[in-house]
Parts: sequence; structure tokens; C-alpha cells
Amino acid sequence: MEKRVWGSTGVAVPVIGQGTWQMEEDDPESAIRALRAGLDLGLTHLDTAEFYGQGRVEEHIVSKAIAGRRDEVFLVSKVMPSNATEKGTLTACERSLKRLRTDRLDCYLLHWPGSHPLEGTVRAFERLVKEGKVRSWGVSNFDVDELEEVLAIAGPGRIACNQVLYHLEERAIEHAVIPWCEQQGVAVVAYSPFGSGNFPGPKSPGGQVLEAIADAHGVTPRQVALRFLVRRPSLFAIPKASREAHVHDNAAAAALSLSAEELRRIDEAFPLGPEPASLPVI
Ligand code: NAP
Repeated sequence: MEKRVWGSTGVAVPVIGQGTWQMEEDDPESAIRALRAGLDLGLTHLDTAEFYGQGRVEEHIVSKAIAGRRDEVFLVSKVMPSNATEKGTLTACERSLKRLRTDRLDCYLLHWPGSHPLEGTVRAFERLVKEGKVRSWGVSNFDVDELEEVLAIAGPGRIACNQVLYHLEERAIEHAVIPWCEQQGVAVVAYSPFGSGNFPGPKSPGGQVLEAIADAHGVTPRQVALRFLVRRPSLFAIPKASREAHVHDNAAAAALSLSAEELRRIDEAFPLGPEPASLPVI
């Protein structure tokens, strides 16, 4: 599994990881089996959040998937903005650690920008780092002006990642967020890389381009899509899959290599579009 450096941390993280949003609605045994199969295949970046199933995903799914193999996993969780005061962030982290049955997170994120002052959230993140409860911290759904605010508070080299919506039909982050993150050494994590269940159909014009490229490589259109999304060294993707077959499919995308011509055809089939007034979120 290809790995890349996680922001300015120096830690190598797999380019394809595993999401867990809405897994509380799936058959838990199947979801846990799929996550563990993913770990076997090197998809060791596991993304979760206190928000997911109101803690149930951390407690009943992720904790079981990582049981006995914590050291293999790059574990990410997120604090809800409504909890993200300094004290609220510290206690939210303790709750997540307890549910996950671990003593540390590899990265802890503010789930989206909220109304509590960022100074308090950042102070809590830094304290958690000092205490060894969090190895790195970052943000999610942050646009450039919001990233600038965090940078001004925390200083350079502290924001490890920005987790943002990114799929073939939603490429808005390419306008300003990716360039900013690359300049500041912040990892960009593509969430909902398959459009959260709205993947381009095989009969759509874009879907046909993906099919043709996939056929030429003997792979699937989703593997082609994932490989396109991680085509720059700052990028990671975290598809969610509760079925083992899907996990195998996603893991194999890391080994795929697309030519410049193929990347150009995908770029044309799923055009970037104009820069929106605000960052799209799911
Ligand atoms: P997604 O990964 O874009 O799509 C998930 C859907 O694709 C599921 O229905 C899954 O099916 C299916 N799928 C996965 N691999 C497949 C394959 N190889 N072939 C066919 N179908 C496949 O959706 P997402 O859950 O919205 O996004 C991924 C992760 O990003 C989340 O789980 C979460 O961790 C994170 N996220 C973060 C935020 C945020 O605000 N920070 C927001 C949204 C998502 P099965 O499950 O049945 O296998």
C-alpha cells in the first residue's frame, strides 16, 4: 500500500483509508469484518467521529475493528463544533478514547467550523498532544479564510490535515483549498470520494470515460476514480465500505497508475467548474 507523509508530522499514512460514517446502519458484523479486511490490505487509516451514530460507530464498530491491532492503525476521530470549547474538546476526546478503547488518537479533527473561538479548540488540541492522547490534530470542512485563522492562532506546521468533500463531480477544493494546503504542508483528505452513494452511472458520459479507462487496465471505474483523486502528493482518500468485496476493490486502487492522457480525459469528463462562493460540504 502506497503511503504518504501526513502533513508536517513526518508520519507515513496510506493513500487510501477507510471511512465509517453511517456504519451504525449497516450489519455490524459485516462492517467490522470489512474494516479488518481493509487493515489486512493496508488500509490502516481509519476515519471516525463522535458524531457518527452519536458515538455508536466509535464504540460498537471501530473499537472492535481495531481490537488487538491498535498499533497497525492510523486512527482519526473528530470533535463536534458544539463541543469544541477548550474544556469541551478535552472531555470529548476522553469520551472518544473510552469508546474506542484506546489511549491515543493519531489525529483529532474539528469536524466543521463552529461558533466557539478557535483559540480554545487549538489550546485543547495542543494540550492533548503534550499529554500523548493525540499525535496530531487538524480540521475538516475548512475553507481558506478559516484555515488562515487557525494558522494565525497555531503557527506554521501545526495543522496536520484538512478533511474536505472531494469527488469527481465536486472538485471545488482544487481552486484554493488544495493550493493553500500544499503551500502550508497540510494533508488534504478527500471525504465522500464516491459521492456518498452517487457514483457516476456506467451510461452517463463521465461514467463511460471511467469504464473505458478501467477496461484498458482491467480494473473498476471506482478504482480509476480513487486514483484520480489522489493524483497529487498532498492527497489522501477515505472511501467507506461495509462489504469486504468493496474494500478489496478500493485497496487495489493504490497500485493503479494512470497516464497523463488518462488523467486529462477524466479531467475533461468531470470539469472543475467555477469557484463557488463557499466551500461545498456534504
Ligand atoms: P463514499 O465513500 O463516497 O461512498 C460510500 C458508498 O460507496 C457506500 O454505499 C459503499 O457501499 C459504496 N462503496 C464503497 N466502495 C465501493 C466499491 N468499491 N464498489 C461499489 N460501491 C462501493 O461515502 P461517505 O461515507 O460519504 O464518505 C467516506 C467517508 O468520509 C465517511 O465514511 C466518513 O468517514 C468521511 N466523511 C467525512 C465528512 C466530514 O464532514 N468530515 C463528511 C462525510 C464523510 P458499502 O458500504 O455497502 O460497502
